[in-house]
Amino acid sequence: MRTDADVLTAPGLAPDLSWREDALCAQAGPEFFFPAPGSSTREAKQLCGACEGRVACLEYALRHDERFGVWGGLSEKERVRLKRQSR
Ligand code: SF4
Repeated sequence: MRTDADVLTAPGLAPDLSWREDALCAQAGPEFFFPAPGSSTREAKQLCGACEGRVACLEYALRHDERFGVWGGLSEKERVRLKRQSR
């Protein structure tokens, strides 16, 4: 089983965007995953926790340096922290 940290170290993974087809966030509004600064991300993260594409989504966000919103169950700050920990 891959962990969030493994996502950063796996070499040569080709981008697979099929996870978007079943993305649970597609059923929610963009404000849900891109909340205003200071707003809670808890509900978005709960939805991510039930999403089968969570790992692939996080991998995409990390590889493309997505700076805003919740991706793969992690906020911007949490993704930055994960990147720092994996160095
Ligand atoms: S993990 Fe979260 S942000 Fe990523 S596709 Fe699933 S619901 Fe959307």
